[in-house]
Amino acid sequence: MRVFCALNERILPSKVEFTYLRSILNFRDFHFNENLQDSLDSMGFENPTPIQSLAIPIIQSGKDIIACAQTGTGKTAAFVLPVIDRLSKTPSDETKALIVAPTRELAMQIDQSIQGLSYFTSTSSIAIYGGGDGVVFEKEKKALTQGANIIIATPGRLLAHLNMGYVKFDTLEFLILDEADRMLDMGFVDDILKIVTFIPQKRQTLMFSATMPEKIRQLAKRLLNSPEEVSIAISKPAEGVEQRAYLAYDKQKNYLIEALLKEADYSSVIIFVGTKIKARELEKELRKMKMKALSIHSDLEQSERENVLMQFRSRQIQILVATDILSRGIDIDDIGLVINYEVPHDAEDYVHRVGRTARAETKGVAITFINEHFQHRFKKIEDLIGYEVKKYPLPEGFDLGPAYEPLAKKSNRSNSRPRHQGAKGNKKPFFSKKAHSNNPKKD
Ligand code: AMP
Repeated sequence: MRVFCALNERILPSKVEFTYLRSILNFRDFHFNENLQDSLDSMGFENPTPIQSLAIPIIQSGKDIIACAQTGTGKTAAFVLPVIDRLSKTPSDETKALIVAPTRELAMQIDQSIQGLSYFTSTSSIAIYGGGDGVVFEKEKKALTQGANIIIATPGRLLAHLNMGYVKFDTLEFLILDEADRMLDMGFVDDILKIVTFIPQKRQTLMFSATMPEKIRQLAKRLLNSPEEVSIAISKPAEGVEQRAYLAYDKQKNYLIEALLKEADYSSVIIFVGTKIKARELEKELRKMKMKALSIHSDLEQSERENVLMQFRSRQIQILVATDILSRGIDIDDIGLVINYEVPHDAEDYVHRVGRTARAETKGVAITFINEHFQHRFKKIEDLIGYEVKKYPLPEGFDLGPAYEPLAKKSNRSNSRPRHQGAKGNKKPFFSKKAHSNNPKKD
């Protein structure tokens, strides 16, 4: 297995490969079908991103590939473009490509990308993702039997169709697994292995994953045939993200959000929380404070989720309170501010959440609230990304937050005095008496 790497100085293997990456600076160098090139032109895509520069020639050469790329790097187009290119060279009604993705949102988003990128070609696609009623199931069945060129599916729903026996994948040429690590985390490994039994062995398999743990390599060994491996700087937030952290007690957090939103004019803000209960609760609390917020989490019906996303995308609401359902894969442009309401449990999740802002090389701000309990977790994140995130003092008018002592034992930490935030203006109570009396239990 050869490894091509980009943007990651630590493991860049050789000058030759780097030169190879730099030499492809324009989409025209891929010699795509004219209609596909027209679509790219109409979307204003001129230069491939690093993952596209690396992955597309390998896919065009017919080889299997395992690609390590975060969301926001242009990874979707990296696998979609060469597939549409191949399909538009020999148009037919047959199903030629299957893309398996972990969530409905990601499946829909990939489908939308395909629709944009294939606009001037005759390629057809459909997303199959569960939820919906019998009518939707029938529509999916029709597409699966009559042949959309590209099927994008979540594993469970696809298996439901496959088990009914009417789906024929014998014309399939491409199998693509997107966010493979997420699919394994969500327990889809058996479903994937079962799905593969319905697909011809002679095929090209493309596996995309944000991380490359051993279990992904094991899966790759089972499903891929002598793959090339490409990787771009993983586990690092994009350069355009300004990362900040605030040490704050839980009871200070909502007031901190209010203060931060007054400091700058953020049109779209995502606040990540750890659980769906917290998502609902925070939505209510922020609305009580007159902020325009809605929450999105796995308890919502598909149509409700779409409605929330639509309101957020169209800027009818400023704040989206979200669980990690949104941290990977979902593409919403122009998120100015991402807030981690709590330190994420998994250091990789931090990178994904932060990756919601500064997409495709724009600028964005990502702020994490660190309370007294999860400082060690934040330290782990800093270790993973390889640098310290700047800790900011709480704004004027707030009382001191907890001291930052990520390595201290719990017993010491609870007795510790705040040390680093000595600013004179920070001596006042952190919020009004009214807030105290309204929230006695939370104090
Ligand atoms: P992804 O990592 O696939 O979620 O893509 C992130 C965003 O980058 C999406 O909004 C894409 O439309 C956009 N994008 C992908 N490739 C390019 C490109 N070569 N030039 C400009 N934008 C791109």
